[in-house]
Amino acid sequence: MLDKRQFYINGTWCDPMAGADLEVIDPSTEEPCAVISLGGASDTDLAVAAAKDALDDWMHTDPRTRRALVERILEIYQKRAEDMAQAISLEMGAPIDLARGSQVGAGTWHISNFIKAFEQVDFIAPLGDHAPEDRIIREAVGVCALITPWNWPMNQVTLKVIPALLAGCTMVLKPSEIAPLSSMIWTEIMDEAGTPRGVYNMVNGDGAGVGTQLSSHPDVDMVSFTGSSRAGRAISINAAETLKRVHLELGGKGANIIFADADDRAVKRGVAHCFQNSGQSCNAPTRMLVERSIYEETIEAARDLAEKTQVAAASQPGKHIGPVVSQAQFDKIQDLIQKGMDEGARLVAGGLGRPEGVNRGYFVRPTVFADVNNDMSIAREEIFGPVLSILPFDTEAEALRIANDTVYGLTNYVQSTDGARRNRLARRLRSGMVEMNGKSRGAGAPFGGMKHSGNGREGGVWGIEDFLEVKAVSGWANEAG
Ligand code: NAD
Repeated sequence: MLDKRQFYINGTWCDPMAGADLEVIDPSTEEPCAVISLGGASDTDLAVAAAKDALDDWMHTDPRTRRALVERILEIYQKRAEDMAQAISLEMGAPIDLARGSQVGAGTWHISNFIKAFEQVDFIAPLGDHAPEDRIIREAVGVCALITPWNWPMNQVTLKVIPALLAGCTMVLKPSEIAPLSSMIWTEIMDEAGTPRGVYNMVNGDGAGVGTQLSSHPDVDMVSFTGSSRAGRAISINAAETLKRVHLELGGKGANIIFADADDRAVKRGVAHCFQNSGQSCNAPTRMLVERSIYEETIEAARDLAEKTQVAAASQPGKHIGPVVSQAQFDKIQDLIQKGMDEGARLVAGGLGRPEGVNRGYFVRPTVFADVNNDMSIAREEIFGPVLSILPFDTEAEALRIANDTVYGLTNYVQSTDGARRNRLARRLRSGMVEMNGKSRGAGAPFGGMKHSGNGREGGVWGIEDFLEVKAVSGWANEAG
């Protein structure tokens, strides 16, 4: 079993001061595969103190120094890609091909995009010709606590660590205690890249311990959090006393509105996206809203796709889906499938229990419900498993009403060949992102939500700006440069 008990504080790997052991479970086998430490207040304090000490120097470095560091990180990240893929696959159950592709690839993509976006950030800019002695200075927010989830580990870590570094912030990363192994490798990468001491620190811990200590710490200026709306609320409350900036990326319950004039691949795309990563994506299109005239044929197509979706161990190569991450997650999904049946939805594929012939591992049957109405638990709650709900609609107005009738507002999807209709809906859907006809967001587009899906924007220029303060200066000496 891997021993990963150490933390990384002030440029050195060190033993915990107040650690309690926690086993990391391989979700494909339910066997422990590593042991980490859950830190305590003395570990958190040490890491925050290191970040605070390093802040003044780091925030005043030449931006080119910070960019050069990020370029080194990218180079080493690419060199360590296979180690990273193996760690992600083991800790959270992503099939190895998915881990090598989208999971590790998301990190490469974000780091590269941030390097490009950084060119657009003006650290000292004039206010305008009307005020020649005014300058707008952008400077680091300060010491940041970065708290990340387990479902797309490197996606989330790179979306926080890289812009924080580029902005000139110093930081403490607390990865998910359920999937901490990839962040240990990430930390080795940060070390090998020559990150100055104290700029980046990593402490493992759980929400009640290190997570809460960071969110309420008087020397932390900002918390950037990705995870559940429940934890986002707790963090906001804990951070309020010290008036921290709180950046939240939370859950979702995306609608995928499929009109009768959608392209041929729309249903297949929607089902595959819902099941990808075993349904454990905040932007999963879990509510498929289908125009009545194609409703029954869509249900049949979804049933067929679900039945053809293979479920197998994460270590196996192939396009199957893996287990869900934990016993708690498995139980929650089973409970919601049961509620779907109890509340009157029509089960058309999958259902309770593990797939046939499987008696170990947190494997869930790819499940499709039809005749769902938007008041049912499976339409309102984030399930975070391979469970699709199909709801009929008759008019565009009705589809829009159903799509917006949720506390979440992360990503909605529209499938229609009518361009005017797509643009109309893009304006009226209440979500941070609207993706249409299978076109994914371009490089540098901001990722984030509205309502209970959070308030931050990650990626591109917006992602860097979230880690910057804006300072208005008047009386600037133009002649002094
Ligand atoms: P979680 O909220 O349980 O945990 C996320 C992280 O927060 C972990 O590191 C955990 O230790 C920590 N944490 C938990 N409670 C805390 C507290 N009270 N104070 C401080 N830290 C605390 O979420 P999860 O189960 O790891 O991840 C799944 C959730 O993340 C889903 O709801 C999903 O939609 C959401 N998510 C959102 C996005 C996005 O960008 N919007 C991306 C990925 C995942």
